[in-house]
Amino acid sequence: MRSGRLAVLDEHGRRQKVHPAEVVGPWHRRVLAVRALLIAIFVVTPFTRVHGRPLLLLEIGARRFWVFGHSFNAQDAPFAFLVLSGIGFSLIAMASTVGRVWCGWACPQTVWLEGVIRPIERFFEGSAVERRRGDKAPWGLVKGARFAAKHVSFVAVATLVAHWAVSLFVRVEELTQLWRGDAAAPQGIAPVLVVLTTVFYWDFAWFREQTCLVLCPYGRLQGSLQDRDTLLIGYDARRGEPRAKAGTAGAGDCVDCRRCVAVCPTGIDIRDGLQMECVGCSACIDACDDVMVKLARPKGLVRYASEESLAGGKTHVIRPRTVGYGVALVVGLVVVAIFVRRYEPFEANVLRAGGVPYAVDGATLRAPLAVHVVNKQSEASTITLALEEPVPEVVVQFPAPVIALEPFEGRTVPMIVSMPVSAWRPGFRLKVRAHDALSGRDRHLLVEVLGPRHGSP
Ligand code: SF4
Ligand code: SF4
Repeated sequence: MRSGRLAVLDEHGRRQKVHPAEVVGPWHRRVLAVRALLIAIFVVTPFTRVHGRPLLLLEIGARRFWVFGHSFNAQDAPFAFLVLSGIGFSLIAMASTVGRVWCGWACPQTVWLEGVIRPIERFFEGSAVERRRGDKAPWGLVKGARFAAKHVSFVAVATLVAHWAVSLFVRVEELTQLWRGDAAAPQGIAPVLVVLTTVFYWDFAWFREQTCLVLCPYGRLQGSLQDRDTLLIGYDARRGEPRAKAGTAGAGDCVDCRRCVAVCPTGIDIRDGLQMECVGCSACIDACDDVMVKLARPKGLVRYASEESLAGGKTHVIRPRTVGYGVALVVGLVVVAIFVRRYEPFEANVLRAGGVPYAVDGATLRAPLAVHVVNKQSEASTITLALEEPVPEVVVQFPAPVIALEPFEGRTVPMIVSMPVSAWRPGFRLKVRAHDALSGRDRHLLVEVLGPRHGSP
């Protein structure tokens, strides 16, 4: 049984470098395929267009956002809130049902560290045994050259990752301008790139598994999100214990070869039970299955299983928390569907003009108003304002009835209502139609005209 300290710390609290051994096997191949796919998606996303618009671009400074080719602006903040809540909720539901699948399979930290950085390290410094030996060897030309080549590669990867990460927030063309030294390139990108590259390099070269063990809040939350029915990677102690060398009479299936420990990127022994440090990478499953195959014993001594099933019970897939998550998921999807259905490509709102809400000039009432229009689309458009359902004796003037708007541009134009005071009554309303030429959509605005009952100006 392990002590209470992290597996990567020695008895003096000093960090021990982890050199996970290579692993091969079906789970590793699946994990590699997922990581390769995710890296490919990350790489192509900034260059991918949907109907000529970015697949994903979050221009925070300009408050313009593209998701799957649809443009949004700051007025769509409720949608952003919904999406972010949905992502947060999905991670919570995932942790509760399938444990740390996100951490082991899809988290950028694991994807880059295990999928790119460790292979680079193996390429330059050899196997885990060679790397450990290399750590203790005195510095010389070969060790220095390998060290330098490895770190230059890490810097190169960190630089590329930083550029691709930034290109989710800044147009690729602007990044290119920056590298060309073009004065038109947005100022402020270069320091962000330097900071991100430094942070990524520091993580890849030194901090590594500490990110999961110490920094990541998701990792800290796992204990409170999981229960005995959560699917995790676990060791079947009922089958494996008592562990002993192969051929020992009365021994369990675990031959105490420690292969599962050797491949673990966080340095833990899965046989010590479920641990916070396990990131669910599945390396120990392949490692142990390989040993079991060689010993002609059934695979699965270490496997995906719930605590309940490892203890001999039955995993309850349908349980209060999974039902709760299912209901919340359906409600969330319905809300998103309603939002998407109601999404308007342009905004139009009637505002009170500054100053008095109305003026009475003899027998005529005049109410100065303003219409604020915003083109939320990524192409220029024109919005036309007109009175809908004209009312006898009421004159509505739009000094600028046709408003040409650039992409994401907003403008406020005047609107003046003139009518006989005698025709006015409390709650008097007019209907104004705003038509967007690009989308062909209309918005119908209900305008309340204030009059004498609201107080004399
Ligand atoms: S215990 Fe197994 S699944 Fe967990 S991090 Fe270590 S190798 Fe990966
Ligand atoms: S790899 Fe399997 S057999 Fe070897 S120590 Fe780990 S659990 Fe036991």
